[in-house]
Amino acid sequence: MTKHDRPAPDVTAFGPDFTYAFDDWIKSSEGIGSVPKDSFGRKVGIIGAGISGIVCAYELMKLGLHPVVYESGQLGGRLRSQKFEGSSTAIAELGGMRFPISSTAFYHYVDMLGIESRPFPNPLTEAAGSTVIDLAGKTLYAETVDDLPTLFREVSDAYNKALEDHAQFGALQKAIKARDAAKVKELWDPIVRDWDDRSFYDFIASSEAFKKLSFRHREVFGQVGFGTGGWDSDFPNSMLEILRVNLLGLDDDQRFMVGGVEQVPRGLWARSPEKMEHWPAGMTLQKLHGGSTLPGVVKVHREGEDGQFVITDRWGRIEKYDAVISTCQSWLMTTSMDFEERLLSQEMWMALDRTRYMQSSKTFVMVDRPFWRDRDPQTGREVMSVTLTDRMTRGTYLFEEGPDEPAVICLTYSWMSDALKMEPLPIDQRVELALDSLRKIYPDVDIAKHIVGNPITVSWESDENFLGAFKGALPGHYRYNHRMYGHFVQNDMPVEQRGLFLAGDGISWTPAWVEGAVQTALNAVWGVMNHMGGAAPASNPGPGDAYGEHGPIDLGD
Ligand SMILES: Cc1cc2nc3c(=O)[nH]c(=O)nc-3n(C[C@H](O)[C@H](O)[C@H](O)COP(=O)(O)OP(=O)(O)OC[C@H]3O[C@@H](n4cnc5c(N)ncnc54)[C@H](O)[C@@H]3O)c2cc1C
Repeated sequence: MTKHDRPAPDVTAFGPDFTYAFDDWIKSSEGIGSVPKDSFGRKVGIIGAGISGIVCAYELMKLGLHPVVYESGQLGGRLRSQKFEGSSTAIAELGGMRFPISSTAFYHYVDMLGIESRPFPNPLTEAAGSTVIDLAGKTLYAETVDDLPTLFREVSDAYNKALEDHAQFGALQKAIKARDAAKVKELWDPIVRDWDDRSFYDFIASSEAFKKLSFRHREVFGQVGFGTGGWDSDFPNSMLEILRVNLLGLDDDQRFMVGGVEQVPRGLWARSPEKMEHWPAGMTLQKLHGGSTLPGVVKVHREGEDGQFVITDRWGRIEKYDAVISTCQSWLMTTSMDFEERLLSQEMWMALDRTRYMQSSKTFVMVDRPFWRDRDPQTGREVMSVTLTDRMTRGTYLFEEGPDEPAVICLTYSWMSDALKMEPLPIDQRVELALDSLRKIYPDVDIAKHIVGNPITVSWESDENFLGAFKGALPGHYRYNHRMYGHFVQNDMPVEQRGLFLAGDGISWTPAWVEGAVQTALNAVWGVMNHMGGAAPASNPGPGDAYGEHGPIDLGD
């Protein structure tokens, strides 16, 4: 067991595209590197105070640089834990909510802040207790996977077989576990060539394992997926993205952050690093900023060919920087900012604008107690369970702090067209629709009578600071991702483009997972350090030092 009884991960988010151990780099007692003393105090503008921007700022402050973070919405970005009115424990996790233990760079910061986590109550897990799967009007109750009809086992076996047939899954995951970079590349790179043009649905429909089964099996897979549910929303996505989820254990062993995940970015904002160059002991990002982030950015340009970057905020304040990191969703660089075009190549703008974001909506209510643990006297079953369904709610999740404590129901967590159905609706109507669906599944349970406080909802796509929930790459997008991800290594770039870095969920190979946001932030930190004339220690090479040898395969244009 590791800190806070979290099991040690068997598989970690190592590669498969960039086979570099980010966790080793940041954990090393040698430190991640240094910048020359005459660079101390040089300013770096950071657009966005999500986890990516905050990790960048924290690490750059440690190096003795002066990060300045701009935020147009809320600190924490898509790690947003909203408290229910009047409660100190009941929270709605509006963005990221379940964090796989393979996310070792992310957990480095979680552990540093001493944040406790516990198993997430996913379907068919011990933490959930019981699960209901309601498909095509049939309601199934299960406490373990063995309680489900054999069709579910057939679906799961078929997917495992398809992974083996198309992606040498066992061998590839073994190489990832062993962090055998050469082997990972040997196995993964041909898969990139073969599957970049093909969708998740194609993978299922063309696999011999699923061809032998009925259409119903595909439908069930679409609902239940490989555990957490709702995977048919991803059917049009590039299969490469789904393979990364499976290979890196992102859908497995997920944990819930006690007290809310927003504590991670907020904790880093307020924490003083033990070791820090240049700044006096006790310095924090919060103090460095005089308490708060700067307002949203409306303009970014550069003086001369390689002069300073100039950022204008929404109230017209103009500040100059030696480097800039942009961590917001990439569409915002064209929709919400006047971003000087020459700072990126046209190929890069193409990639940033073609990037496709998925929609997602969640609606939560607080209830008086975890009544779902009551047992039906006739059947002996829990009266309500974590629920996966083809009805509008798609996924319903249950959160409890104790038998007599207020508890939280995520009535509905949906994606893509299911999220769009909710998008124009006011919150009460969303709750009504969700309760209607659940009433059909649980005719004898009166959920409404347990509701206390006011509901909380989100549609990430209708928030002007996001325009979508997270990236979901389409077939043919590998080259776009390759351009964006590799942009932090700038030696061969025209001089006017150097010094601007990209980071965050949309740049990563594993969008919708916080680990990707953290890893890309670390790439940008290395980029800035290098730009300022600094370097990582030879014995602890940074991501940019390893990129030539271990970087993702280039498919060429
Ligand atoms: C619904 C949902 C569910 C998710 N589930 C999970 C999960 O279960 N597990 C997991 O690991 N990950 C999950 N994720 C992904 C995870 O939340 C993200 O990867 C991560 O939070 C992204 O961080 P970021 O810093 O890259 O981006 P963001 O959090 O988007 O940060 C960028 C910031 O930039 C700000 N900004 C925008 N425009 C400007 C401007 N002009 N000026 C200044 N600031 C600006 C935004 O307000 C935002 O705060 C989920 C995300 C969503 C939305």
